[in-house]
Amino acid sequence: MKWLYEMFPAEGDNAQLSYGYSVSKVLFSERSEYQQVDVIENPVYGKALFLDRLMMTTEKDEFIYHELLTHVPASRIDGPQRALIIGGGDGGIARELCRYSSIKEVIVAEIDGMVIDASRKFLPKIACGFDDPRVKIQLGDGAAFVANQPDNSFDLVLVDSTEPIGPGITLYKEKFYRECCRVLKDNGQFSAQGLAPFIHEESQNLMNQTLKKAFNWVKPYMGVIPTYPTSLWLFFHAAKKAQDIDDISYTRLPNGTKYLTKELLRSCYNIPRFVETNLGN
Ligand code: SAM
Repeated sequence: MKWLYEMFPAEGDNAQLSYGYSVSKVLFSERSEYQQVDVIENPVYGKALFLDRLMMTTEKDEFIYHELLTHVPASRIDGPQRALIIGGGDGGIARELCRYSSIKEVIVAEIDGMVIDASRKFLPKIACGFDDPRVKIQLGDGAAFVANQPDNSFDLVLVDSTEPIGPGITLYKEKFYRECCRVLKDNGQFSAQGLAPFIHEESQNLMNQTLKKAFNWVKPYMGVIPTYPTSLWLFFHAAKKAQDIDDISYTRLPNGTKYLTKELLRSCYNIPRFVETNLGN
């Protein structure tokens, strides 16, 4: 395999867009019961994880996505203790959460153990989150897991899922979002990866409307992920109670972030007019 081509909307006849990555080494390539799992070495981005030939994360730019999904919500809580990650099989979100000394437990509800095993073996700089004794892995469907959790039991629920295809579909449903809201403590915070404004317009609008049915407060925020399709990427921050995004006086960004600054914790909510329009806000 000299090149790996990521195709949109999917590999096959209706592909309309492709991103190619030269493969200097195939480190892992197997099919789990859920998806094709590939880890390759690319001269520009280093080691990279693909699921069903869609780019998930690379050694070079993973910090942007993992910091944005984690610290925009987490840094608003004074001493977060319990966190639930839905998906997150590469371990990057768990690693970021473990930067908070107040964290006592991180549960990773990931459906595919092969993703965790391949990430731990070939992406140790990202999957090192799994080595922290506070991190516990719950293999299985994340929607089923959260439905069995008690009310008001988590400070954070972070959805680091694949796109709304295959096993990921359940993680975009209103029932799932309502359960995520139910298990959050009063000042608990939720975030989810929110897809690409340029190629996921319909899914993004639906995600925004669905989140607003489950949470009293929903706010999109944005970042640029070089290896995600079209690079512009949205996230959704949600909570039971309205958050004052202009007041970053009490945000607590942990040491060691490479992307986020205090200023970016506020400016990431500034999204372009065309995105607001598409979201129907
Ligand atoms: N950052 C990536 C993105 O934005 O597409 C996501 C990375 S992470 C590897 C996505 C994880 O979600 C995968 O490991 C996949 O197995 C997991 N996943 C998909 N559907 C799931 C479900 N219903 N329950 C739990 N995990 C799920």
